[in-house]
Amino acid sequence: MQRFDNIIIGGGHNGLICATYLANAGQTVLLVEGGELGGLASTREFHPGFKVSVAHSLSHFSEDVSKQLSLAQHGFKPSDVSLTTVGLSLDGKHVVVTDNGVEGVGESDQDSYTEYLKMLNRFAKVLKPFWLKTMPRIGDNSLPNMMTFGQLGLKLRLLGKKDMGEFMRVATLPARDLMDENFDNELLKAVLSWDGLIGSKMAPRSPNATVLNMLYRMSGGKDGAHTLPQGGISNLIDALHKSALASGVEIKTGVAVSKIVIEKDSHGQRASGIVLQDGTVIKSSRVVSSVDPKQTFLELVGARNLEIGFTNRINRLRSDGYVAKLHLALDGLPSFTGLDTCDGRMIIAPTMDSIEFAFDDAKYGDFSQSPVMEIILPSIHDSAMAPSGQHVLSAHVMYVPHALKGGWTEQAKDTLYQRLIDLLSKYAPGIEQQIIHGELLTPDDLEKSYRLNGGHWHHTELSMDQMLMMRPTYEAAQYSTPIPGLFLCGAGSHPGGGLMGGPGHNAAKEILRSVK
Ligand SMILES: Cc1cc2nc3c(=O)[nH]c(=O)nc-3n(C[C@H](O)[C@H](O)[C@H](O)COP(=O)(O)OP(=O)(O)OC[C@H]3O[C@@H](n4cnc5c(N)ncnc54)[C@H](O)[C@@H]3O)c2cc1C
Repeated sequence: MQRFDNIIIGGGHNGLICATYLANAGQTVLLVEGGELGGLASTREFHPGFKVSVAHSLSHFSEDVSKQLSLAQHGFKPSDVSLTTVGLSLDGKHVVVTDNGVEGVGESDQDSYTEYLKMLNRFAKVLKPFWLKTMPRIGDNSLPNMMTFGQLGLKLRLLGKKDMGEFMRVATLPARDLMDENFDNELLKAVLSWDGLIGSKMAPRSPNATVLNMLYRMSGGKDGAHTLPQGGISNLIDALHKSALASGVEIKTGVAVSKIVIEKDSHGQRASGIVLQDGTVIKSSRVVSSVDPKQTFLELVGARNLEIGFTNRINRLRSDGYVAKLHLALDGLPSFTGLDTCDGRMIIAPTMDSIEFAFDDAKYGDFSQSPVMEIILPSIHDSAMAPSGQHVLSAHVMYVPHALKGGWTEQAKDTLYQRLIDLLSKYAPGIEQQIIHGELLTPDDLEKSYRLNGGHWHHTELSMDQMLMMRPTYEAAQYSTPIPGLFLCGAGSHPGGGLMGGPGHNAAKEILRSVK
């Protein structure tokens, strides 16, 4: 029977990254993917000739990972051009945020934006090195652990006394307070808070990690600006795939793992391989899971192999998704009132209150009467996404609960779909007549289609109690787990989700350290 040093479960971007680092270090690696490579970032045809990826833009993909895995040599073509962010207004008086500043607001907001961005960039730089580092283990006083704490302390100190104080105060502020402190224009406040909220179960008034999430997104090469690589998101996944193959990673797709094999002897227990859905057993020295923590532990390992306290902590992880995806195949370019071009990222969220009210509905198991959303048209940037002259609209719809009161019936989905089309029609009159086909993926659909427990953007909520050295739980935050031989490398681990690559990179480093 063939035996591998490592089996990676899941071929999303983190699984591919982890596999490639391990193979580059001379390890034998088998990657097993239940669906298609890319996971939430895979591109698929949702209607004949029309393609889309669930994740629709890059804002913080790690440049270090890109260089170390030679992604450019494997065809990765990141873009230098940021997508303009447009806060849509019904009267056509939009707020536009570009690399050069903000338009459509008063002079004082324009000046404040320059200062605000400088401040956030200084703070983001403090945190940036720590996204690609293993977090210290709580209670471990070893030198590397202490050094990581020391480096963070030093970086903070180097900010200077005033900024250090501001960093400590601002990092956990509700986004609303940060916006109110800096700006007057309501639409601008809503648009700028969006990047701290998208993908989370938090709204502008939520105290916790919205500003930290914003700083996490700003760790990318262009300070968190959203971009599309040439050839769309599939360009990144294709390059990661080629890099993995060139490094010698063996890849199986279209076959899911049903169990992680746990062997027990007098020394204790150890992960020693996987069982595929067709019953095939494959043995390995280590199993590395990029799938969400709940599936990894509760389904693939099984509670009977876990200590009860740990099982309870995994059970309690908040991992119910709040973002739905709307995909429209259009027979032409929609016309948004007051916009010459719709090649940017357009946000429908008129005020921070509108975001908060949509969140309030979701908290109690409803979707909102007035949803908030982020829209892009990927086919403007990549003609391969739609037939000539036709287009694809991709929208992240926020605050759509995974557990809808009454369940996700066809009728509930139709009601939400029509509500979204009615809303879009207010900003882009006539768009409904341009629709050839529409698809709405609720968090429940994302769970089923992408084998993602809860359908959460970050696999599990990225909030203070579930981040850094507590991600996903404090026993499993260094990529190793309570089961020897079993490691984590997906978005449910530090630093979290989004197309960033940190978990895959950090997990590989830890695994290689453990086998030295
Ligand atoms: C609606 C939505 C929109 C998003 N938009 C963006 C965006 O625009 N930009 C951005 O940066 N991020 C976005 N994200 C977040 C981002 O897509 C994810 O955080 C990221 O893709 C997670 O990558 P991953 O490799 O850790 O996991 P995944 O991409 O989830 O990959 C895990 C893989 O494991 C496979 N798998 C699961 N179970 C098994 C099994 N039992 N056996 C074998 N294989 C299995 C799955 O099929 C999947 O391919 C979005 C997320 C959502 C939900």
